[in-house]
Amino acid sequence: MQRDGFRPTIVLGGGLTGISAALHLRRPYLLLEREHRLGGLARTHERAGFYFDHTGHWLHLRTSAMRELAQRALGDGLVEVERRAAIYSHGVLTPYPFQANLHGLPPQVVYECLLGFVQARLQRTSENPPRNFEQYVLHHFGAGIARHFMLPYNAKLWGVPPAAITSAWCSRFVPIPTLEQVLAGAVGAGPAELGYNVRFLYPRQGGIESFTRGLVALLDPAHTRLGTAPEAIDPRAGVLTVAGERWPYHALITSLPLPSLLGLLVEAPTAVLEAGQRLRATPVRYLDVATRRPARADYHWVYVPESRFPFYRVGVFSNAMPSMAPPGCSSLYVELAGREGDAEQATREALQGLVAIGAIDALEDVAFAELREIAPAYVVFDEGYEVALATIQRYLVAHRIFSCGRYGAWIYNAMEDSLLAGQQAAAQTDELPDAWPCASLDPSSGPSPAGATNCG
Ligand SMILES: Cc1cc2nc3c(=O)[nH]c(=O)nc-3n(C[C@H](O)[C@H](O)[C@H](O)COP(=O)(O)OP(=O)(O)OC[C@H]3O[C@@H](n4cnc5c(N)ncnc54)[C@H](O)[C@@H]3O)c2cc1C
Repeated sequence: MQRDGFRPTIVLGGGLTGISAALHLRRPYLLLEREHRLGGLARTHERAGFYFDHTGHWLHLRTSAMRELAQRALGDGLVEVERRAAIYSHGVLTPYPFQANLHGLPPQVVYECLLGFVQARLQRTSENPPRNFEQYVLHHFGAGIARHFMLPYNAKLWGVPPAAITSAWCSRFVPIPTLEQVLAGAVGAGPAELGYNVRFLYPRQGGIESFTRGLVALLDPAHTRLGTAPEAIDPRAGVLTVAGERWPYHALITSLPLPSLLGLLVEAPTAVLEAGQRLRATPVRYLDVATRRPARADYHWVYVPESRFPFYRVGVFSNAMPSMAPPGCSSLYVELAGREGDAEQATREALQGLVAIGAIDALEDVAFAELREIAPAYVVFDEGYEVALATIQRYLVAHRIFSCGRYGAWIYNAMEDSLLAGQQAAAQTDELPDAWPCASLDPSSGPSPAGATNCG
């Protein structure tokens, strides 16, 4: 690494955000990744011929730019798959989304959901906009759908009560059907396709990491340092400390979890550090499950809202792509509602639950099960979220630090969003003048934080 007079753009974190930034940068850059493999959450674990992503990682590409990039990365190696998703509730499977496919549930449940939906519609006014996610659910879906799916499912997923989060994250991810669609779905004439993920792309072989590897193959390896993490960042001087050496940078593009990034900053203002303390996230524990026989479930994934089951979603990788397991076997993921506690007990209860919902036939079918964790997994969109994030991003952008991607921008997103965030950050940093200005910047001035929060 040359130091005097040369300032590359440094890309911190080699998940999809960092890889995309590196692919799109026109200025010289260096990509630093703490692990010994690029990809972050978009990596795949293989054991005995079974492949597991970090739970379901299905690729939805809505922009032509990212579809072209995917084509360059993997070409025909990406297969389009039609979603088969269901909800397991009251002992029956109904198609996803719950709110538009009530048919098949017990009549009393269908009645409650329909009545609630109609009442919510009649009572809805713009004068009482929802202040939290629970209110948002009641406002748009009514009490029945709230009680039987939305509230219990989201409490398990987020690990916090729905009243403790806002609805800032959900407009793209939670489809709101029309009254006509809900009625049609209640009598079994429902719309088959609703939601953002009707079809998805997935690598023919090797799990989602094959896609990541295709992207990585487009990079020049000379600009990547694996097993490398900075010890400190001096934002005023624009210098990173790595293994005791000082590395000046033109700009930083980082997808490190925002609190970790703040922990590396030298002399950050108290207001910024205090804002960092207000950021919250929950982890997720999940199981990789390998079975010796085909899973009984015919779905790609199933949502499980009821609290009597210890998981909120179960997926079968090998139903989407048979190469994810040896012939006649299946590979599954099971996302657990519990965030802590004894691992063996959690595994045992989850496997029993899989039999109970009919995802697998018997415990004896399980070849192995491994408990894993993602931390952070879900950012908590609580009341202080927006102000805290804006305070932090304003300071960072003013110092040429572009914190983006799922945990860099501290958001809820999908893989394409991270790819787009990397592309956008590359364009933003390429445009910055060569001269290093930040030492003279007033931390409260500088570009609006909007650019950074849009970074994903
Ligand atoms: C449970 C779950 C399910 C998901 N399912 C889907 C799905 O089905 N479809 C979809 O499109 N998206 C899905 N996503 C979202 C998807 O995983 C993300 O959008 C995307 O992978 C995030 O990429 P990223 O680069 O922003 O972050 P990350 O993948 O987290 O990458 C950050 C990188 O920074 C590195 N790093 C961390 N600290 C340091 C350090 N100090 N120094 C150097 N490097 C460091 C990490 O090792 C990592 O490689 C899911 C996410 C979760 C949590």
